[in-house]
Amino acid sequence: MAKTCAFKAEIRQMLDLVIHSLYSKKEIFLRELISNASDAIDRAKYLALTDTTIAPEAPEWSIRLTADAVTHTLTIEDNGIGMSAQETEEALGTIAKSGSKAFAEALKDGKETNIPELIGKFGVGFYAAFMVADGVTVETLRRGEGQSAVKWMSAGDGEYTMDEGSRTTPGTSITLHLRPDQEQFANGWTLKDLVRRYSDFIAYPIYLHEEEAEPAKDEKAAADKAAEEAKPLNTMVALWKRAKSDVKPEEYEAFYRQTLHGMGEPLKTLHIAAEGMLEYRALLFIPKSAGMEMMMPGNRHGLSLYVRNVFIGDEIEALTPPWLRFLKGVVDSSDLPLNVSREMLQDDAIIRKVRSDVTNRILKALAEMAKDKPEQYDAFTTSLGDFLKEGYHSDWENREKIVELLRFRNLKDGKYTSLKAYKEAMSEGQKAIYMLTAESLQAAQQSPCLEQLKAKGYDVLFLTTPVDQFIASEFYEYDKTPIVFADKGDLGLSDDDAKKSLDDAEKTLRPLLDAVAKQLEATVKEVRLSTRLTESPCCLVQDPSALNPTMRRMMEAMGQTVPEEKRILELNPNHALIKTLAEETNEGKRNDTVELLYGQACLAEGSLPADPAKFNRLVAELMARA
Ligand code: ADP
Repeated sequence: MAKTCAFKAEIRQMLDLVIHSLYSKKEIFLRELISNASDAIDRAKYLALTDTTIAPEAPEWSIRLTADAVTHTLTIEDNGIGMSAQETEEALGTIAKSGSKAFAEALKDGKETNIPELIGKFGVGFYAAFMVADGVTVETLRRGEGQSAVKWMSAGDGEYTMDEGSRTTPGTSITLHLRPDQEQFANGWTLKDLVRRYSDFIAYPIYLHEEEAEPAKDEKAAADKAAEEAKPLNTMVALWKRAKSDVKPEEYEAFYRQTLHGMGEPLKTLHIAAEGMLEYRALLFIPKSAGMEMMMPGNRHGLSLYVRNVFIGDEIEALTPPWLRFLKGVVDSSDLPLNVSREMLQDDAIIRKVRSDVTNRILKALAEMAKDKPEQYDAFTTSLGDFLKEGYHSDWENREKIVELLRFRNLKDGKYTSLKAYKEAMSEGQKAIYMLTAESLQAAQQSPCLEQLKAKGYDVLFLTTPVDQFIASEFYEYDKTPIVFADKGDLGLSDDDAKKSLDDAEKTLRPLLDAVAKQLEATVKEVRLSTRLTESPCCLVQDPSALNPTMRRMMEAMGQTVPEEKRILELNPNHALIKTLAEETNEGKRNDTVELLYGQACLAEGSLPADPAKFNRLVAELMARA
């Protein structure tokens, strides 16, 4: 009994957009359907390893295209896993795929106009068929015992029909009733060209059969046609199995985009053929930037795994350490058994070796990039540097290599700098590496805590990304040189003379320090004089062990309760304002100035004064007086 159902709303909306988009490269529908067919065969082949009812003997796994220029139809058929009625309904109609809504939104926004990339990214490939067809019929029979054939039809207009099917062999055929202006897709030459261009590395033979309007002239012509049609259109050798010298850059890029759903061009491609103790092949890509999905913790990630040409699975997390989750690619090992399961992979010795080898090669590639192509490496740091920093935090095995790859913006010229380069350029007599955490490069550059360092001509490295805040406390030494944070503790820069003059100043300013401490008791734990400042009247600093203020704000923003930790207010004894303040006899006026000073110190490090309204009022009054 046929039943007609409505598509899920998101799917309808997405279909509408796909059909009516003005996107000119409608041909990509073919690559999507062939890739689905190939996936279906991968699955069948894999399941057949453990379940003989799936495939009692190995058939010739293949994909067949049938083009009919008379009826203007194109059929893509595979002998893969097939679908049960429920699976068909779930896959092609009712279950709102997480992707379709996001896809529709991205398209509607108009910001993303690259439909093929979007289709790949959101996993809605099947629906691309409706760009060229005004009717799609799916005939499918699930492999395995006790399955019945299913027929699914839709004109892409909001509804689909499900009925009993007529297929007698397991697999799926998808017939497209081509739109009048898309009839070229029933043309043999067009199809051959498209398969070579988009689907050449599909591991199963893709055959083409053309229905002719008239029968062959004679037997010879018929035999020639049959022989021609028995030749697969694709070369089938997986890209990673080919010699590096045989693969063109555009082939790598096509693979990256079409198979791995990468966006744009990759930043770096690694084609690995490991031999010797550990044998495996891999095709790895460092993307130019991480997708949104990468940023969300808990999302699956990881490389795809093949064992001797059989697809085992994608998003195999065991193949890379978590911090390398931006990496895309394929690993093919001949040393693993075919029937490995995801669970087994987790503690498989070979997988562990591959993982460590892959990690080493990526680290090496990054080190080379940093050396030979510094601009490219800067781009990597900007978009993916935080992943590396996460690696520094979590991957102890590789920490020494990773630390050399880290880059921080510096005070001198705002450029990315390595710890090594910093150390090599240190001024004579400079005993420590100076760092500062801040919310942005601009905030860092303007921090009053840097004044003394600037006066000395010392450079400072800035930690300004969210991950920086988490790992800042892990920087305490590099290559036997201590790392000191510019806003924490004593910078240890004052010579004996400076210390003496500070002691002298302390004697005269003691009453002021006590008065300020009393006034700000609630927010500040200590008020002291310091040599950290040369231009500003005051700044806020912390104990060396304290949580940095940016980190604190981040944690609070995430809804965590962070124990209150009072700061230290440092005053510059040489500043005219401090001197006048010490002589101020009107207590009310002095209190207001202290309040203003404290507010300024807060603003300088990126936080708000304790009472912003009062701070504003005081500033206004001050202006009125001036
Ligand atoms: P994706 O392939 O990214 O999941 P699609 O929209 O292309 O998204 O396909 C949706 C689902 O339909 C697939 O995940 C698969 O379960 C099913 N499907 C599509 N084509 C086939 C096929 N030829 N054989 C078996 N299942 C298929």
